[in-house]
Amino acid sequence: MHMVKVQGQQEIPVGKIICVARNYAEHARELGNPVPDRAVLFIKPASSILADGGTVVVPPYSNECHHELELAVLIGRTGKDIPAGEALAFVAGYGVALDLTLRDVQAELKAKGLPWEIAKAFDTACPLSAFVPAGEVADPQRLRLRLTVNGEVRQSGTTADMLRPVARLISEASGCFTLEAGDILLTGTPSGVGPIKSGDRLEAVIDGIGTLRVDVR
Ligand code: ZN
Repeated sequence: MHMVKVQGQQEIPVGKIICVARNYAEHARELGNPVPDRAVLFIKPASSILADGGTVVVPPYSNECHHELELAVLIGRTGKDIPAGEALAFVAGYGVALDLTLRDVQAELKAKGLPWEIAKAFDTACPLSAFVPAGEVADPQRLRLRLTVNGEVRQSGTTADMLRPVARLISEASGCFTLEAGDILLTGTPSGVGPIKSGDRLEAVIDGIGTLRVDVR
């Protein structure tokens, strides 16, 4: 069983990990891009979690594993059909996550109209940092994110560019699934996703939240 911990609080078991497929657009606010009617959601199992300092193992059925840097949101209590205006009160903490994706496998399955879980839910597909208490994060939409691979910056963005802010994601997700303490939301990735390879060292940083480091076997 995978456990999750907010600094200074008791460990709780991880429930489901709900991810949103695409939640950033460059300069979305300035360009006034329309927000899609419905968030595209998918789920990673708790077994895909890799703790900070761990080693990513790309499955043998893929030749192209991509990094996606994301803000992780830990749910602290049960909710269903949560109004966006109340949603942040359901957050226990914030963390740093990678939504590792087997892009070749995903593309092939998508082209066939088949579900692409095996591209997103494999063991080690969800590196995850410790969580900081929600009360220590003044505004989850004002956080800078950065991912380096072997010291080279690959992704750099801000949560201000989310198409759906955290509160709206929680509200929409809770309209599909009952949210429970220990559930985690991955909130989408800014631009700059790309392949990782054997021997790479990934360092993901969200200012005010933490740092997550993993190696690739
Ligand atoms: Zn993602």
